[in-house]
Amino acid sequence: MSYQKISTNKPYIRVRPPGPNARKVLQKDKRYISPSYTRAYPLVAERGKGIMIEDPDGNRYMDLNAGVAVCTTGHCHPEIVRVIKEQSERLIHMIGTDFYYALQSDVAEELTKITPGRFAKKVFLANTGAEAVEAAIKLARFIQRRPRMIAYIGAFHGRTMGALALTASKATQRRHFSPMLSDVTHIPYPYCYRCVFNLTHPKCDFACLSYLEDIIFTKVAPPEDVAAVVIEPIQGEGGYVVPPDSYFQRLTKICQKYGILLIADEIQTGMGRTGKMFATEHWKVEPDIICIAKGIASGMPLSAMVSRATLQKWPAGAHANTFGGNPVCCIAALKTIELLKKSLVKNARITGEYLINRLKKLQNKFHFIGDVRGKGLMVGIEIVKDRNTRAKDPERRNKIVEHCFKKGILVLGCGENNIRFAPPLIITKNDIDIALEIFENVLKGK
Ligand code: PLP
Repeated sequence: MSYQKISTNKPYIRVRPPGPNARKVLQKDKRYISPSYTRAYPLVAERGKGIMIEDPDGNRYMDLNAGVAVCTTGHCHPEIVRVIKEQSERLIHMIGTDFYYALQSDVAEELTKITPGRFAKKVFLANTGAEAVEAAIKLARFIQRRPRMIAYIGAFHGRTMGALALTASKATQRRHFSPMLSDVTHIPYPYCYRCVFNLTHPKCDFACLSYLEDIIFTKVAPPEDVAAVVIEPIQGEGGYVVPPDSYFQRLTKICQKYGILLIADEIQTGMGRTGKMFATEHWKVEPDIICIAKGIASGMPLSAMVSRATLQKWPAGAHANTFGGNPVCCIAALKTIELLKKSLVKNARITGEYLINRLKKLQNKFHFIGDVRGKGLMVGIEIVKDRNTRAKDPERRNKIVEHCFKKGILVLGCGENNIRFAPPLIITKNDIDIALEIFENVLKGK
């Protein structure tokens, strides 16, 4: 069966989704695929081009989440497709942890140049975000010879056992999987819209950091036992939460005072998403270790743990893997970085500002939008029952997300009651206008 090619950036629903062909896929999936996946709604993707996704029934959707912050250059960018094709005819695999090929060190060199911090760095390549986090945990423990970690309530760092020990986003992700890594202490994220101390920034004078120093370090986790603080520069799965200015400067000072490493999980925030190559750059932070994945290779599985070169004193065999730094993924990453540097990071900043301003205008019209926040093209809104009480409204949030899908725009939830916008970084203001016209109709219940 042939379908019309994806040609415009206008969503087009020809059959109420999931249509008959999509339903066949869903049935087979139900039969064979693990039920542990977190499917948001029954979207079946058949092809993608730019910011658009087409399903097997010919419905066309605008992808406002970029395959969850992965497809930075859009779906199937012609340059990415070209280098993947060419590389797969040259060399697909030769286990980069046992032998050598140039693309690995080429990518590593690029990553050391584009990550914050003008010091020598070294790179460990892997496949998924969780693996980059695992590498960071192991390196921090190895070099520090300290057992403890500090992480954040609401954090998402992945689902493998080490990363899961840091994750504290949803109870389902942890239920029945204990014991995990012991000695991880979770502290409140600087989520000023919902401050757990019921204080207001800046009057609070960072009570959340005083809590770390005055309570956690003195009663729970002696700082000389703490190897690292692991933080998402903007909390992703936890609700697209942006810390207030100066938070990172204060946190960095605390880390330096006690010889604790700062690990930035830039898996969702990195690779241009926030309008800078890395989100920590917004606050001029130079983390000791940075975890990168998602947007690094336009959809090819690659992740990286980049650290100060001085930290990588682990010997051969201490950490390695089979597929990390696969040549086809590396070439896709090099091309992705080139495209990001050329124009896409800048576009994320400009169109991101436009998106936030347009959403703020919607906030004036709809009482249930409690907050609009974000940086670049990492933007979230809070759906509340009442703006004064800020009571969360997850039911309305879920209905909006589902309704958007039915109308041809793909958004996702995050946190308990938030909607996130993380489109490909190629999106234009005109695309945003098209998307938000549909979004506004959804908010009106149309
Ligand atoms: N860290 C952050 C901040 C993430 O957003 C994610 C995934 O959403 C991960 C880690 C885990 O990445 P992966 O699913 O590739 O293991």
